[in-house]
Amino acid sequence: MKYTGTTGSAGIAIGKVYLYQRFQPEITMEPAGPPDCELLHYRTAQNAARKELEALRTRFSETGNSEQTAIFAAQLEILLDETIDEEIRNGISSGECSGAWVIHSVFEQYAAMFEGLDDPIIQERAADLRDICVRLLRCWADLPEQNLSALPEPVIIVAHDLLPSDTATLDRKNTLGILTETGGGTSHSAIIARAYEIPAVLGVSGIVSALKNRQEVILDAINGKVLTNFSLETRSTYESKRQEYLQQQAYTKQFIAREPVTPDNVRILVELNIASAAPQELEAVKYTDGAGLFRSEFLYMGRSAPPTEEEQFQAYRKVLMAYNHRPVILRTLDIGGDKPLACLDLPKEENPFLGERALRLCFRHPEIFHTQLRAALRASSFGQLWLMFPMVSSMEDLRRAKACLERAKEELRSERVPFREDLKTGMMIEVPSIALLADQAAKEADFASIGTNDLIQYLTAADRGNPAVSDYYQAYHPAVFRLIRYVARYFAAQGKPVGVCGEMGGNLLAATVLIGLGIRQLSVGAASVAAVKQMISSTSCEKAEELAKTVCGLSTAGEVYQYLREKVTLSHSFIGGS
Ligand code: PEP
Ligand code: MG
Repeated sequence: MKYTGTTGSAGIAIGKVYLYQRFQPEITMEPAGPPDCELLHYRTAQNAARKELEALRTRFSETGNSEQTAIFAAQLEILLDETIDEEIRNGISSGECSGAWVIHSVFEQYAAMFEGLDDPIIQERAADLRDICVRLLRCWADLPEQNLSALPEPVIIVAHDLLPSDTATLDRKNTLGILTETGGGTSHSAIIARAYEIPAVLGVSGIVSALKNRQEVILDAINGKVLTNFSLETRSTYESKRQEYLQQQAYTKQFIAREPVTPDNVRILVELNIASAAPQELEAVKYTDGAGLFRSEFLYMGRSAPPTEEEQFQAYRKVLMAYNHRPVILRTLDIGGDKPLACLDLPKEENPFLGERALRLCFRHPEIFHTQLRAALRASSFGQLWLMFPMVSSMEDLRRAKACLERAKEELRSERVPFREDLKTGMMIEVPSIALLADQAAKEADFASIGTNDLIQYLTAADRGNPAVSDYYQAYHPAVFRLIRYVARYFAAQGKPVGVCGEMGGNLLAATVLIGLGIRQLSVGAASVAAVKQMISSTSCEKAEELAKTVCGLSTAGEVYQYLREKVTLSHSFIGGS
């Protein structure tokens, strides 16, 4: 059998399926049996949850992760808390509701109460309470824990969807590939899969029910295909293709240390997109001109409370020190859309990508924004930090964000805490309304970075993660190039830097056009650095300008793609990016 989807991250994987399903409790009010049985059921579930938490605490303490160790130690205490335990037992003994119902209502009642208190430390415990409750209910349902950070063997993960927090904490050693029913080339899971060089095919509808655990599949993440029930011959063909791909990748990697200069001597800045201060993220630093996008929101994921000012300060400082005075563009919290946050109980929205996302959410939660701005300012003394606001859709947004920054600066000045007074403040251009005000934005921002992932989705009105509309999400749409040309022109007129940090920068065909449109800064995932440098070394600016001129005059994405395919010679078979 053959299934098709979208390539999220290139490569070929052959291996066993690991079906992953995030647990979602279904609670009925009716007790399943007499109170005695329900009480015994509760004790069994509580014991199982205790064992899991103890194992997690031990594992993280053995690996020296003190933060996670402390979280699970605290959760264990809550699980075994006498008052909570007594309330649950009393509730079950009354025989009115099922044990699961009682567990849920007791934990929820405490979580709501904690949230309502003034002390932010106690408020943060609410997320822990909900986390424990879900664990306890899963144990009540007698379902095993599924944890992508500790996989039993090398596998291909198959899921309906993966949250960025799932992918960010993935057991990289044992993940051969990723296969999901949702998502597209610029969904955040795809971006992380690319950074980790894990082949991924996304948007394959119905694949979860079509596959069985441990069944062998071939993931052809070059052509966006999945093969099942294949012959030995097919298997060996794909094994050869896999080897060929790896060899090609190794060849391209030779370009990683080259200086990115075009044949007509124009130096292009190649920067790195990062999501944390983890050593594997910073590996490629030495080959790049800076961090063109530090997605700070990943520091907030997979935890029950937002990081404190001190934690953020330490992480930002670590990155700045690694870059040793090359610019690091720290993007303020960009949560919402396809990036939910466990430590913030965000309401469900009908259209999350058009909802209270990123800067909008920071304005709604000024304390979280203020903490981040303070941490960033403090870290700015340790290198060249540039601060960037995401999802700016109007000049009011930009001015309001800058006013928040001024308040944080004022506070630090009054506390005599040092920071860089000349810190550059810029913005993402990813919403068409602000792109069309580029002339004005360029006067008030010190720099800009074009977020093509969102710009394409908002310009073409096609959700970047919805496979049903992936044909409408067109990176090669001439309107995308025209808008980028417009933005680049106005920023250049003001002498302000403008780069591209969306996945288009790592798409070798499209990146050629970007250079032709005047973009001189491309910020890409670690896996694309070498390929982009290779492309730069073989494309003159003169030729790129010619291509760009024609592309902006074409009328469909298909025409643009066809034209670039004919005119651009690439030594790599896969175009990359999205
Ligand atoms: C973008 O939108 O292009 C971008 C870089 O931001 P993100 O992918 O994190 O939304
Ligand atoms: Mg974006």
